Amino acid sequence: MFEQGVIRPPSEADSLLVRVTRNCPWNRCLFCPAYKGTTFSRRSVAEIKKDIDEMARYHGGNGSRVTTAFFQDADSLILPTEDLLEILNYLKGVFPSLVRVTSYARAKSLKRKSVESLKALKAAGLTRIHTGLESGSPKVLKLIQKGESPVEMIEGGKRVMAVGIELSEYIMPGVGGRDLSRENAHGTAQVLNRIRPDFIRVRTFALPPGSPMEAMAREGRFTPMNDLEIVAEIRALLQHLDEMPSHFRCADFSLNLLMHVDGYLDRDRSRMLQDLDSFLALPESDQKAYVLLQRSGHYGVHPMEMLKHHDLMNQLHEKIKELENGDGFNKYIRAMMAGQLPRPQTGSWD
Ligand code: SF4
Repeated sequence: MFEQGVIRPPSEADSLLVRVTRNCPWNRCLFCPAYKGTTFSRRSVAEIKKDIDEMARYHGGNGSRVTTAFFQDADSLILPTEDLLEILNYLKGVFPSLVRVTSYARAKSLKRKSVESLKALKAAGLTRIHTGLESGSPKVLKLIQKGESPVEMIEGGKRVMAVGIELSEYIMPGVGGRDLSRENAHGTAQVLNRIRPDFIRVRTFALPPGSPMEAMAREGRFTPMNDLEIVAEIRALLQHLDEMPSHFRCADFSLNLLMHVDGYLDRDRSRMLQDLDSFLALPESDQKAYVLLQRSGHYGVHPMEMLKHHDLMNQLHEKIKELENGDGFNKYIRAMMAGQLPRPQTGSWD
């Protein structure tokens, strides 16, 4: 059998998952459960080639229907370029129908690759990099122990864009908490305006149970934001983003409250700002009704559509009243959101 890692981006759901390293070489981000309790290791090219052969057997010998592949785990670009080239060439030889090969990478690893190396990787078939910016604010990056600075994020991202490899930047509104919300929005917009990535993928922050950030919240060192505050933060971010050809994506992640805020910044920014403004202009009771509806798993309902359904609205308002008389609305919503988060593979955050 072949090895597989635990995560991949949603857009790689149908991709061949080729594990080239195990776990995360940094593994210290305080919000991230993905690889906690595990140790990073590189896999040998021989081992990876053996996996690729196994995958070809699994796909019936020729793999002719396989068109996309993804390199796991958290930072494949940490491998020497020669190794990555050998893996890419072998993979494309075994699966000649591949049209897209993508990978996660940390900005530090991207920054360490020369432009020539990245050009060679593109020529060998690497088409897209997914990277976690999370925030462009130095204070927020320090708070969450990202281990990378805005300057490194910009250098790494620009290098990828310069050679024509597609770039997906993941950002996390709310991760700075209430105190750093403004700074998070402005700093993130500044960094993204410099990189001008192909995709900006919004990943609304939810407080992971048992995480160091939960402990910080308990001790008063981090103030979690509610959904309405995070929507306001996303509005501030969008307002400061340039009209560039980046796809601003909320639709591909169900923890984003307003999943319909999705489009290209150069043609849809005003429409997306209007969508945010119409939500922010609703009475708080209706905003909360939408939060409750969406957090209960009813994705894809437009807030303005919801308002037309009077019975539903009455039920939602009743439920909100009940929650507010009990443990509290925000506490309930936070628990619903936390339920959607992955847990550390080992059950431990250490
Ligand atoms: S967010 Fe990325 S870099 Fe940070 S610990 Fe998780 S996988 Fe590693």
